[in-house]
Amino acid sequence: MNTKYIFVTGGVASSLGKGIIAASLAKLLQARGLRVTIQKFDPYLNIDPGTLNPYEHGECYVTEDGAETDLDLGHYERFLGVYTSQANNVTTGRIYNTVITREREGAYLGKTVQIVPHITDEIKRRMLLLGKTGDYNVIITEVGGTVGDMESQPFVEAMRQLQWELPEEDFLSIHLTLIPYLKAAQELKTKPTQHSVQELQSQGVHPDIIVCRTEKELTPELRRKIALFCNVKPGHVIQSMDAWSIYQVPFNMEAEHLDQMVVRKLDIPDLPEPDLSGLSAFLDRLKHPKHEVDIALVGKYVELQDAYKSIQESFVHAGAANECKVHVHCIQSEHLNPSNVAQVLGHMHGILVAPGFGSRGLEGKIAAVQFARESGVPFFGICLGMQMAVVEFARNVLGWADAASTEETPDTGHPVIDMMEEQKKLTLMGHTMRLGAYPCHLLDGTLARDIYGTSDISERHRHRYEFNNQYREAFEAAGLKVSGINPDHNLVEVVEIPSHPFFIATQFHPELKSTPERPQPIFVRFVKAALDVLLSSK
Ligand code: GLN
Repeated sequence: MNTKYIFVTGGVASSLGKGIIAASLAKLLQARGLRVTIQKFDPYLNIDPGTLNPYEHGECYVTEDGAETDLDLGHYERFLGVYTSQANNVTTGRIYNTVITREREGAYLGKTVQIVPHITDEIKRRMLLLGKTGDYNVIITEVGGTVGDMESQPFVEAMRQLQWELPEEDFLSIHLTLIPYLKAAQELKTKPTQHSVQELQSQGVHPDIIVCRTEKELTPELRRKIALFCNVKPGHVIQSMDAWSIYQVPFNMEAEHLDQMVVRKLDIPDLPEPDLSGLSAFLDRLKHPKHEVDIALVGKYVELQDAYKSIQESFVHAGAANECKVHVHCIQSEHLNPSNVAQVLGHMHGILVAPGFGSRGLEGKIAAVQFARESGVPFFGICLGMQMAVVEFARNVLGWADAASTEETPDTGHPVIDMMEEQKKLTLMGHTMRLGAYPCHLLDGTLARDIYGTSDISERHRHRYEFNNQYREAFEAAGLKVSGINPDHNLVEVVEIPSHPFFIATQFHPELKSTPERPQPIFVRFVKAALDVLLSSK
């Protein structure tokens, strides 16, 4: 069987959930035995989202190979349980960078370098790249942005060309739109969808299937009308209603026969029915929690839902594993201080201090750590959250009042979090970070070792600063135990306080590898610890 290429575009409005639709379709095809991956083409000029403030674009998701990518890749991994890589996220900036670098190298000598064919050729090369590895039967490409935007035109043009260059049964195009409901008229409106499809068709791309986001059921008449005006097969207009959980969407798409339409058009014969039993068991647990706990997520990007997407999702997975609903309360660390922390965090069953960059809100994070450490509330620190746990311990237990991370205070007398010497030489943005998967050895007899049930693990990183080994003995003597170590560079990756009911902090980002079917073990145990607090208070 040839590799099949499915393209997903969006129209009418942004934030319709193209990533979830793409991931749901991928899940259904995977559940029918196909090897599937998803890639995202983003229309902005940044080379990658690594330099974007989370307020701009939500969380930056990091892959095993250390690519800083769009948060949709997190959804792809969570739905499929399959790792993505640098090749799965391409931006306009990366495309132009490649073409311009080649131009300077003389690769196009004598020619005028243009959007068509040079930029579109590079887009097409990348759209087909993962298909050439032989690892996948199906490549789903999500085209970021909205059809009609100036930015996404070269991507749509590349799709148009592929539509004719690939065998007909290897190419499929799905367009996701919004059907608004007008309360005053009590009617669902199809006109924006008609216009969006016209726009796509005027750029030469013909959608095979239209997926309509809607708050209300689409009647058969309405579906026929959309098919008629949008020039698609009747029956190829399907609805995607608002779902109670994103993990319900694959089931909704199955009920609309999306996977059947796709395998028919792509001429893939003899597939078994989708086996979604793992996801279905997860959803059952998610739907019927026996308890509810309150967990504080202390961070500085709390106003934007998507800024801590993977952490939020990890709590959904870990909650289900404990048959417990986790209410995650986002607390702005800038507003926390030693005098209000007990009042704000006092009724929480667990406290997580989030990752982050820069100095804004650090003192609030330190106040949250101190409160958790002294009151015995379960604590979990991630990356910057671990670094602030170390700073807090240095200040308030070791008595080094000036202890700090050199990210915040370069000239501190106690640089307990510092940059490694070889990193200091690198200056290009993004080049100084420890990114992607690194091995970690967990010490016997520690909480971390017990949680993972094994002594050698691998987790993903995204940070510049490290625990300063010069102070390790002093910390251990005072009761902060180092429980996880990078075996190659002797870097501290996990710390814990054995005398505390549950206090663990990691330099890596465990949230990046949690999935509904494989919930992340630290999150699972943290939620359990929170649940123990709840049950013991009853
Ligand atoms: N700012 C810290 C560092 O660069 C932590 C980064 C993070 O939390 N991801 O080391």
